[in-house]
Amino acid sequence: MPSIKDIMQTMEYGPAPESNSEVRAWLDERAAGLGHFINGRFTAPGDDLIEVVNPATEEVIGRVPKGVAADVDAAVRAARAALPKWAALSGFERARYLYAIARHIQKRERFFAVLETMDNGKTIRETRDIDIPLVARHFYHHAGWAELVDDEFPDHTPVGVCGQIIPWNFPLLMLAWKVAPALAAGNTVVLKPADLTPMTASAFAELLVEIGLPAGVVNIVHGDGETGAAIAGHADIDKVAFTGSTDVGRVIRRQIAGSGKKLSLELGGKSPFIVLEDADLDGAVEGVVDAIWFNQGEVCCAGSRILVQEGVARRFFEKLTQRMKTLRVGDPLDKTMDIGAVVSKKQLSRIEALLETGKAEGATLNVAPVELPKRGAFCAPGFFTGTASSHTVSQVEIFGPVATTQTFRTLGEAVALANDTRYGLAASVWSENVNRAIELAARVKAGVVWINGTNMFDAAAPFGGYRESGFGREGGRSGMLEYLALPADKKGKPRPAPTLVPQVQPFTGKADLPEIDITAKLYIGGKQARADGGQSYTVIGKSGQAIGQAGLANRKDVRNAVEAAGKATGWGNVTGHNRAQVLYFLAENLSQRRAEFAAALAASGASPKAEDEVELTIRRAFWYAAQVDKFDGAVTATKSRHVTMTVNEPFGTMGIVAPDEAPLLSLLSLILPAIALGNRVVAVASQSHPLIAARLYQVLETSDIPGGVVNLLTGDRDVLARTLAEHDDVAALWYCGSEEGSAMVEKASAGNLKSTWSDNGRLRDWRDPKQGQGREFLRRACQVKTIWLPYGE
Ligand code: NDP
Repeated sequence: MPSIKDIMQTMEYGPAPESNSEVRAWLDERAAGLGHFINGRFTAPGDDLIEVVNPATEEVIGRVPKGVAADVDAAVRAARAALPKWAALSGFERARYLYAIARHIQKRERFFAVLETMDNGKTIRETRDIDIPLVARHFYHHAGWAELVDDEFPDHTPVGVCGQIIPWNFPLLMLAWKVAPALAAGNTVVLKPADLTPMTASAFAELLVEIGLPAGVVNIVHGDGETGAAIAGHADIDKVAFTGSTDVGRVIRRQIAGSGKKLSLELGGKSPFIVLEDADLDGAVEGVVDAIWFNQGEVCCAGSRILVQEGVARRFFEKLTQRMKTLRVGDPLDKTMDIGAVVSKKQLSRIEALLETGKAEGATLNVAPVELPKRGAFCAPGFFTGTASSHTVSQVEIFGPVATTQTFRTLGEAVALANDTRYGLAASVWSENVNRAIELAARVKAGVVWINGTNMFDAAAPFGGYRESGFGREGGRSGMLEYLALPADKKGKPRPAPTLVPQVQPFTGKADLPEIDITAKLYIGGKQARADGGQSYTVIGKSGQAIGQAGLANRKDVRNAVEAAGKATGWGNVTGHNRAQVLYFLAENLSQRRAEFAAALAASGASPKAEDEVELTIRRAFWYAAQVDKFDGAVTATKSRHVTMTVNEPFGTMGIVAPDEAPLLSLLSLILPAIALGNRVVAVASQSHPLIAARLYQVLETSDIPGGVVNLLTGDRDVLARTLAEHDDVAALWYCGSEEGSAMVEKASAGNLKSTWSDNGRLRDWRDPKQGQGREFLRRACQVKTIWLPYGE
């Protein structure tokens, strides 16, 4: 007689289809096509329509127009017109709208879940239990932010009209991630859903009419990449928020360079899933199911590189193979299915081509023994063995249900493998030893780290990437800041061109002050260094006469400085207390030499009130020293049983390009917040008044700042800025120069998608603490890492 266990194991699933009659009726009523949603109304769909296909059945389920420039323009105009009233509403009033959206989503959860499944191919189990509940959670959470925005973000204002472009893998959820914070902060929106999955966005627009959201606050324009480009490039958009592939993210970065538009990019990933030998292996195997087979692997943060410690690798892969045999692939509306269809036949071909590449490069593909439906875009789940970091499939997003695997021996090796990618979106760490797990979480370069878990999301938990996974965060306090502006972000007066163009000439002048050092060098790796080209340029002082020479740095000097900075990794690891002590010491040493600095500044002609400038610089050093151990992360209140920590991590090496005005104060106002948080900097001092840098490095030398933490260059601002922008080992770049220089820096930084902060050639009053100092500088000097640590059994 079979045991209960036998019965449970052999029992076949019966079909358990979710009814889609309500959604079918909704679709039938709209069979002629859905228009754009502009200024609170649907436009006529027109004739040139994109067919929307259910990838599981290959049926056409709807039609949407391809938005052209005139549609985008109409939407932007509607959003602009709606902005003043929407922004002027009290937080409470805006909160009521967001709350109403959340309530209505909840009331229609089943409808949205079924529609999403039919549009995208993902299983009803996931749309019902994950996507749509998270959508509602997002609007509730942000109803709260709308209510609190004035209290929690004093001095901030909405950014303006936001252009938002979303992908097809989580259509309504990505819409919620974009729309909710934008509205909570008082912005208006023009959003483009992916052309493969536009249906839930249209149903959402109908819901907005139901709840009476003022016309023009949210506008939805359908279309493809060209429509997306028209939104990003529209002159009257103030902010672009994009989720999608890294390649398109790069295109958008270049497209809007120099426009002054705020930008957040949530891009691709190749996230490591690290299993240590003390992990609960069964738990980790279930983790893989959620990491790479969830949503058909079409997840930017999918755990797509499984890294297992050698001692348990054989057992782990045996268990994984067993578990894979139980996966069910098929009709996504069937409630018993684990895996549905991928989004389109085209995406399926892309995945299959990559799997072939993997095999051709020598890896073995292990696939689940599943029978795929005859029709539809279905892909068997699996994993590669025999993959190395150099394989294409280990580096490129497959964006399908297949992971690569590698083994490691030590923790150090695990970190090296985990970080051996250009991405840095997420990571999973599996270990029963909390010390080890947290150590790994700290060392992996990723914006989100799940300990003993994977693919968990919450509206309160910031989500976003390091490196080529993009910049900016969605969710929680950090996410709100992406949709808020500070007065100092508003346009100041244009900055005049540098008064001095570096020219190589023999020095013929006389020092204004006899004690001024006229053989200023560069400062690299803690040492004074002659410029690589052996060249200097003559500096003109207040009286119009030459007062000295400064080193003329070139590309090689930038590279040397970046290399030196790259080696000074210890700085990020010392305690905040220790870093604060060093900053206080720097302030003290500056204070001791205040007369000399004031004299040099006066002689340079750059500072009308030289003594004040020195005084303010000393105070600024004290302020940042005080902040070092107070600019804290947080533990955020997520919905699940986790201690979800947000940690402010340094970028690593930052480039800083200082302006001409207030050359000492501005230079240190930029360097201090960066090093306070543990970054190393390569700073380009004022082009016209570079001699102050030479005095400054003498102070650095005596202030216990380790070699390589601050590197100072002088020379042609934009030549050096371009090299910094193009350098792949520079993770973030701040630029204060000209408008054209800002555009150049933003464009050139697209290579490794470094986080940039440029002032578009506008002056900032460095003396005013509201403009020249503050938590905003610290916020820009770090990236938030969100670490999820479970508790309880
Ligand atoms: P894309 O990055 O091309 O698409 C994302 C969104 O951007 C869509 O709405 C798309 O429009 C739009 N878009 C495309 N080109 C532009 C442009 N020049 N300017 C503005 N918007 C644009 O992803 P794909 O759909 O092409 O998918 C390709 C690969 O990208 C996947 O296989 C996967 O590897 C990766 N990907 C990553 C995602 C992530 O979340 N990290 C999400 C989606 C894809 P439309 O689709 O309507 O043409």
